[in-house]
Amino acid sequence: MTAAPTTTDPQALDILKRVWGYDAFRGVQADIVRTVAAGGHALVLMPTGGGKSLCYQVPSLLRPGVGIVVSPLIALMKDQVDTLRQLGVRAAFLNSTLSLDGVREVEAALLAGELDLLYVAPERLLLPRTLDLLERAPVALFAVDEAHCVSQWGHDFRPEYGQLGVLPERFPHIPRLALTATADDRTRADIVRVLGLAGAPQFISSFDRPNIQYRVAAKEGPKSQLLDFIRREHPGDAGIVYCLSRKSVEETAKWLLAQGVDAVAYHAGLSPRERNAAQERFLNEEGLVVVATVAFGMGIDKPNVRFVAHLDLPKSLEGYYQETGRAGRDGLPSTAWMVYGLADVVNVRRMLAQSAAPEDVRRVEAAKLDALLTYCEAATCRRGVLLSYFGETLPHPCGNCDVCLAPPRVRDATREAQMALSAAIRTGNRFGAAHLTDVLLGRDTEKVRAMGHHTLPTFGVGKAHDEKMWRGLLRQLVSLGYLAAGEHHGLSATAKARPLLRGEETLHLREDTLAPRPPRDRAARPGRAPVDAGDRPLFEALRAWRLSRAREQGVPPYVIFTDATLKTIAELRPGSLHTLGTVSGVGQRKLAEYGEEVLGVVRGQSGGGRPASSRQPGEAERGAAGNAAVLGVLRGSSQPSAPSAPSSARPAALFPQPPDDTPPSSPPHPAVAEALRELRRELARETGHSAFVVFPNATLDALAVRQPRTVAELAGVPGLGPKRIEAYGERIVDAVLTALDG
Ligand code: ADP
Ligand code: ZN
Repeated sequence: MTAAPTTTDPQALDILKRVWGYDAFRGVQADIVRTVAAGGHALVLMPTGGGKSLCYQVPSLLRPGVGIVVSPLIALMKDQVDTLRQLGVRAAFLNSTLSLDGVREVEAALLAGELDLLYVAPERLLLPRTLDLLERAPVALFAVDEAHCVSQWGHDFRPEYGQLGVLPERFPHIPRLALTATADDRTRADIVRVLGLAGAPQFISSFDRPNIQYRVAAKEGPKSQLLDFIRREHPGDAGIVYCLSRKSVEETAKWLLAQGVDAVAYHAGLSPRERNAAQERFLNEEGLVVVATVAFGMGIDKPNVRFVAHLDLPKSLEGYYQETGRAGRDGLPSTAWMVYGLADVVNVRRMLAQSAAPEDVRRVEAAKLDALLTYCEAATCRRGVLLSYFGETLPHPCGNCDVCLAPPRVRDATREAQMALSAAIRTGNRFGAAHLTDVLLGRDTEKVRAMGHHTLPTFGVGKAHDEKMWRGLLRQLVSLGYLAAGEHHGLSATAKARPLLRGEETLHLREDTLAPRPPRDRAARPGRAPVDAGDRPLFEALRAWRLSRAREQGVPPYVIFTDATLKTIAELRPGSLHTLGTVSGVGQRKLAEYGEEVLGVVRGQSGGGRPASSRQPGEAERGAAGNAAVLGVLRGSSQPSAPSAPSSARPAALFPQPPDDTPPSSPPHPAVAEALRELRRELARETGHSAFVVFPNATLDALAVRQPRTVAELAGVPGLGPKRIEAYGERIVDAVLTALDG
């Protein structure tokens, strides 16, 4: 199905490097680019953040003529065009937001061959005037973005998309590229049919999003759990918080604001103006949290959303995947975090039980709900459960979900389950979880008395456990379908419960269903924080510079540079335009436009920590020459001559500045120092490096002073870059803890 990979066309790679500043294509991008550049059609299924845009943008530059991109998301077109223009690509859009003059101007540019890429709304494309125009213009390809909108099967059906069959009819020989992140077979078949792609290669990527860490915890106090999560793991980051009701959206946003987290509410009850304002703020500010109903998100292209939190259960696993998928499009570590509780499970089960939908619809919905709840209660790798729902198999547990990071204890809960089930049956299969818990715990409440439940044999049988345990157990029994939720939240034992009650079946459940988060040393792996503590001040300075440049130009900050690019700059601390130009995401146009300013920010931040004498002689002069060379290349001349002297930036990256809040120096702990020396000898033997290559004395001394107790605390220790932390971090922490305990 997927075309066999072959070598990448050097011309395509050259464009990727010169325009985007990227070194290599990702996954199947190269194959797609080659297919389309050679005049072929293709269907591309790739998850959000997978890199679909390059699949049509690069061929548009490789082929003569303009690439026509059909996109239903008018709100995004300006962003996409701004992003391309920043790269020096001649891009424009045609949609209803343009004035008549604006339209004329774009049309003239199109006919004059002055455009590389043109984004068109489908209704605009279908106008006879536009189609005629396109027949007269040189067209490189048609890219149909969000191609699943052709299908009535999905939830995003657009009638105009259904009419895109006009493309194969009127432009049969121009390459057509359909792209989507929605994968099911029926939708795919519709895309092939409508866009005439029978026989065209289909490029299907894994739907895994490895940079997203999946976490699910039991709901205790959702707002404070959320606040704790944001404060500990994502302070100052942009994120989305999903709630089911408008009321809880409003309340949560208000609460976060009161606690000092910059947050704004978004739901369908707000006026279009208020909603637009919230969306604009989200795109244009750095660290805003949007608290929203599911109404928020479609077409949110912001690449640096660092977390997506669910305070209520999503509708289905598809919904969950889509909503969490809005995190981390830029590939940097991000978190999908959810809390849910007994009441949520009872509610969704009850709503389904009482739904008036036809039988077959209800059956599909019940299966979807089961899948979602199985995911929530999973005692195996969550990514594995999620991907298997989409028909993919994960070869190993992922190592980046709460289950992998802190495996829950699974124990035989057969006896407790029998107690809970018989409590439900003996009270008449009609009481809610609170009452059942009272009965199990032997609480002599008014209701228990009135019902005479204090005389039941189950009364008080569960005293050995606490209320939390029982609520967790009841939640799992409802999730797994042993208990059904009916009217007034009443729980009744189902047919599935019978073999369990008769002792013919055992039940194993996760024990620590209430574990709010993975243990701190594992959770706080270095990969978790997008930027090392030592590089943070420079990263922040670069972000501040970016924001001011973005404001001047009226574009979102990530259009200037992505976080991933700023992160690399902060780590590398380039001292010359040449070195800066090697950073992924710094193409020639941006180097020419912003290079000197960025170097200025780097110099300004490094001033204290990095003596000028450590810089290579002549670096500054090379900078100026490099700039001229860069401009030359943009105009089509040859590559700038690469200076041969090695860059001085590397050592700076290996020895990041300590963070500003470094504690005042204190004497090193002798036992810790000795343990670390021993560890270093061990590592030197294992790796075959000499001891000071493993880590230098300065690092050892700093560790003995700081005595880090978690891997996260290693960030910012002189001499410990991400690679060393990755390789040795856990063993260093182990050595420190053992020495301190002994
Ligand atoms: P999608 O449209 O599939 O959601 P995008 O096209 O927006 O994804 O790409 C997601 C991010 O990944 C963007 O920031 C993009 O610049 C980056 N990206 C895509 N391909 C590459 C590549 N080959 N090398 C580096 N970054 C890439
Ligand atoms: Zn996992």
